[in-house]
Amino acid sequence: MDMDVDGASRPKEGKAILVILVGAPGSGKSTFCEEVMRSSTRPWIRVCQDTIGNGKAGSKAQCLSSAASALKDHKSVFIDRCNLDREQRSEFVKLGDVHKIDVHAVVLDLPAKLCISRSVKRTGHEGNLQGGKAAAVVNRMLQKKELPKLSEGYSRITFCQSESDVKGAINTYGSLGPLDNLPHGCFGQKNPDSKVQVGIMKFLKKVPAPDAAARPDGSGDTTSQNPGKNDYFHKDVEMASPILDNPNLESKEGESQGVAFDGSHASRVSLDDAPTLAFPSISTSDFQFNYEKAADIIVEKVAEFTAKLGNARLVLVDLTHKSKILSLVKAKASEKRIDTQKFLTHVGDITKLHSTGGLNCNVIANAANWRLKAGGGGVNAAIFNAAGPELESATKERAKSLSPGNAVVVPLPASSPLFVTEGVTHVIHVLGPNMNPQRPNCLNNDYEKGCKILQDAYASLFEGFASIVRTQAGQSREENENIVKKALKLQDKSECHSRNNLTNIDQKNKRDADHGSEKSKKCKGIQDSFGVSSDSRDERVDSEHRRNGGSMNKAWGSWAQALHQMAMHPEKHKDDLLEISEDVVVLNDLYPKAKKHVLILSRTRGVDCLEDVQKEHFQLLKKMHDVGLKWARKFLDENASLVFRLGYHSAPSMRQLHLHVISQDFDSKHMKNKKHWNSFNTAFFRDSIDVMDEVSSHGKATLKDDDKLLSMELRCHRCRSAHPNIPRLKSHIGSCKAPFPAYLLENGRLVHAPAEP
Ligand code: AMP
Repeated sequence: MDMDVDGASRPKEGKAILVILVGAPGSGKSTFCEEVMRSSTRPWIRVCQDTIGNGKAGSKAQCLSSAASALKDHKSVFIDRCNLDREQRSEFVKLGDVHKIDVHAVVLDLPAKLCISRSVKRTGHEGNLQGGKAAAVVNRMLQKKELPKLSEGYSRITFCQSESDVKGAINTYGSLGPLDNLPHGCFGQKNPDSKVQVGIMKFLKKVPAPDAAARPDGSGDTTSQNPGKNDYFHKDVEMASPILDNPNLESKEGESQGVAFDGSHASRVSLDDAPTLAFPSISTSDFQFNYEKAADIIVEKVAEFTAKLGNARLVLVDLTHKSKILSLVKAKASEKRIDTQKFLTHVGDITKLHSTGGLNCNVIANAANWRLKAGGGGVNAAIFNAAGPELESATKERAKSLSPGNAVVVPLPASSPLFVTEGVTHVIHVLGPNMNPQRPNCLNNDYEKGCKILQDAYASLFEGFASIVRTQAGQSREENENIVKKALKLQDKSECHSRNNLTNIDQKNKRDADHGSEKSKKCKGIQDSFGVSSDSRDERVDSEHRRNGGSMNKAWGSWAQALHQMAMHPEKHKDDLLEISEDVVVLNDLYPKAKKHVLILSRTRGVDCLEDVQKEHFQLLKKMHDVGLKWARKFLDENASLVFRLGYHSAPSMRQLHLHVISQDFDSKHMKNKKHWNSFNTAFFRDSIDVMDEVSSHGKATLKDDDKLLSMELRCHRCRSAHPNIPRLKSHIGSCKAPFPAYLLENGRLVHAPAEP
């Protein structure tokens, strides 16, 4: 470590010292103290605010008084709290004067990404700062960081900027005997002026203010000809999930644990990360639809959908700055005060948005022809060209033709050049009305009909995009691992380049799979067919499907296919399956939410979820129920204290009808947030027994998929007491002996060991 002594004075001898640790959550403060205390022969006391109140979090005043009494007893003291700014530290520093001792600071100034990754991953943290909320909190704290200076009153400051620096400091303090002293001065500081590490700057993507042309008043566009203007896309936004309707989401963990993203600058990441649909204007250039009317429709539909899209973005793209439709839409969007973080216009080639404009769009729309064929001109030809034959074959699997006013979602195979170089995971073909007399099916200026069709076309397009976002976002939050990855992605950008700029959620899944992470476990069943569904289910998102109900307009992301793949090709997944039969396969849930949690998968093609279940599936439901019961009983033979419930999620995250058989202890590290809890403990969870009743009597199951159910307060499933967060709830249910509510005890909804005779 470099030595940078400022007028080193002679150390006093044989006195206690007060060491103030300075560092973000996850920087290793507690570990530092523990390691030193383990090897040191000096009497040390660690004062930790997270545990000072009888093992629970306490106040700064308690820390001050505890430190003072230890110093009175001639014990050396570690102040183990973040102490990231001068004000936080000042009262502790004053203890030095009162007790006539030296005050040191040890600064654990480790890379932001390391602190975030450690805090997110840790479990059982004393201060309960872990999981999804930790990234935001660490960011916020690091933004406020004010490095200590000797002038604050320290006799010694040690800066550690790497793990080896930390080891060095542990050795230094650990070998300090009762009478030893350390030289005074400032040690190890590499860049005294850097308030915020480069890493965190990149992480937060703090870029210069957006160009005037791209102001949030909606008056500007971005352009690939002028990369500077793309700064707009780096405007900070909250690191929140776009659409929070999935029980597997992690992002609300902060909320459920009483720490929400506060919207402060520090808890934000770049919009660059948001799921984005780039779309051309439909029907205007090829089909000669009136520009004014088309612009009105675009703005109207955009306004409608941006309200539902969370932080996902829509981007209207055209090739030239002179684009009439672009300027009309821009003006109208601005008049309508459409949120410019959610809707933008962009000048550039829709097939090169990432490579030439730095704009990450995971989904692009194609102004297709009714035959869904390559060729012609304009956007259609450009997209089919850029995507290669992969798009043609993937399109064929989804649909043979398209009628005006409709859209079809096509997942792009990972081998498509558009996927590889631009990061596009889906193309949505959309067909608008034709006003061009030289083309077939011209509407002959019938704008009443034309407007209706164009509105339907945009609605279908945006719905298709929303369903992609919804399904991708759901799974992307399944593991905290991914939150870290999302947060740190910007730091990895250079690495990503060598892996073809995989930038969006779906692509990240693949990246994670490449790295053998948790996600790869999740995706293990589908890697051989990543991004391509093996069947030819038509995913047209048309008004007819919407009218008819069913899950046909739900575009399952590639990550959501794992169960489907296992059900369709059990022979390829023998190692993961507990049972294979003609009708069902059984497997352990990869992220069990209780001690015992298995899934009974139907093997019937075309029944993706409860919504698809009809009267004819009654026997299938019965079979699934019986197999579920068999497994519950088997587990009860091993552990008679368990109690099981069998049921379906009203709106599942994974494709392929599956029955959860889950023990009611909910004792699992994967039970992490409110959505997890409520997905098993509110009406969102439909008991198998009730589903069978409903299907046999009405031909369909009742779905309770209201988002509100998943965000309800946390209540014990036995005594119904309310709890502020998951750790508290878990600690309560660990000891709650109340009987289960009466309705659960009825009708065989709970499965338990037979009562002793
Ligand atoms: P849901 O679709 O909401 O009913 O729940 C899907 C369940 O599948 C969740 O409990 C996940 O933990 C679980 N899961 C997700 N991926 C896999 C996988 N690859 N193998 C087994 N279980 C999985």
